[in-house]
Amino acid sequence: MSTSITASTDLFCVLGNPVAHSKSPLVHNQAFADHHIDAVFLAFEPFDIQQAMDAVREFDIRGVSITIPFKQTVMPFLDQIDDQALAIGAVNTIVNRNGKLCGYNTDSRAAVAPLNNSDISGKSVLVIGAGGAARAVSFGIYGQKGDLKITNRSQDKGRELAARYDAEFVPMAQVGQLRPDIVINATSVGMAPRENALSCPAECLTPGTLVMDVVYTPLETKLLSVARQKRCRVVDGLTMFVAQAAAQFEIWTGIHPDMEKMRQAVLAHRSSPGNVTNTRNR
Ligand code: NAP
Repeated sequence: MSTSITASTDLFCVLGNPVAHSKSPLVHNQAFADHHIDAVFLAFEPFDIQQAMDAVREFDIRGVSITIPFKQTVMPFLDQIDDQALAIGAVNTIVNRNGKLCGYNTDSRAAVAPLNNSDISGKSVLVIGAGGAARAVSFGIYGQKGDLKITNRSQDKGRELAARYDAEFVPMAQVGQLRPDIVINATSVGMAPRENALSCPAECLTPGTLVMDVVYTPLETKLLSVARQKRCRVVDGLTMFVAQAAAQFEIWTGIHPDMEKMRQAVLAHRSSPGNVTNTRNR
C-alpha cells in the first residue's frame, strides 16, 4: 500500500461475494509497498457484477481480481478476454486500459507452476472437483500433457469437464482403486466447516505421490496431513494462491513480485493477535 494516499493514488480491488476474508489485499498491498508503487488495493462485495464493471470504468479502478461467485458471470461485461481465459471459461483478473476492460485467468498457470512441468507430462493426475478451480487446474494439466482423471460429487458436472479435456471420469465410489502419481483437491472439502473431511480415499495416496490442495484455510488440510503421514510430497493451497496473485500483479504492473514476501504477508496476518481466524477460503 502507498505510504501516503493522495488524489493521484491508483486504486485496485478484489470483487467477490462474500469477500470479507480475502487475502488479496494483503499480498497486493505488500507488493505495491515493496516496489514503491503509488497504489492501494481494497476489497468490495457487489451484488450486481454488471454495475460493478460500470463502477470500475467510472472510478478508473486500474486492476481487479475476481473471485467467487463472479469468475464466469463477469465475462459478458468485459471488452476483451484473452484466449486462455476463454478456453478455461473463467476470468480472475481484469486490467483497465483507458476504460477498456480486458480479462485474463491466472489460476491455471498458478496451479501447474508449483508442480513443475517435468512432474506432469505422462503422469497420471487425479483432479477432484468440477467447479471453477477444477476447470483451471484441469486446463493446466491438459496443457502439460498429464494423463488426466477427474472425479466429482455431481457426476454430470464431472463428466462434462472430463469430456472437455479428453480425460477419464471416475465416479467417487471407484476412486479408492486408483494409485495416481499426482492428486489435486480442487473442491472446498477440507475447508471449514469440513476441516476433517477427505476429498479422496486415503488408499489413493502412496509414498511419493504428489498431493496438492487448492484449499488454504486451514493451510494444513486433512488431506495434506494424511499425505505427509503416508510420505507423499505435498503442495499447499497458499502456494497456488500466491502464484495466481503474483501473475495478476505482473499483468497489472509488468513487475514480477517476490512471492515469498507475499506468502509471509498472509502468514504474518494469520498469526497476529487480534486477527479473526478465517473460516472461509476465497
Ligand atoms: P465451485 O465452483 O463452487 O466448485 C466447488 C467444488 O467443490 C465442486 O466440484 C463441488 O462438487 C465440490 N464440493 C463442494 N462441497 C462438496 C462436498 N461436501 N463433497 C464433495 N464435493 C464438494 O468453487 P471453486 O471456485 O472451484 O473453489 C473450490 C475451492 O478452491 C474453494 O475452497 C476456493 O477457495 C479454492 N480456490 C483456491 C484457489 C487458490 O489459489 N488456492 C483458487 C481458486 C479457488 P459439486 O459439483 O458436486 O457441487
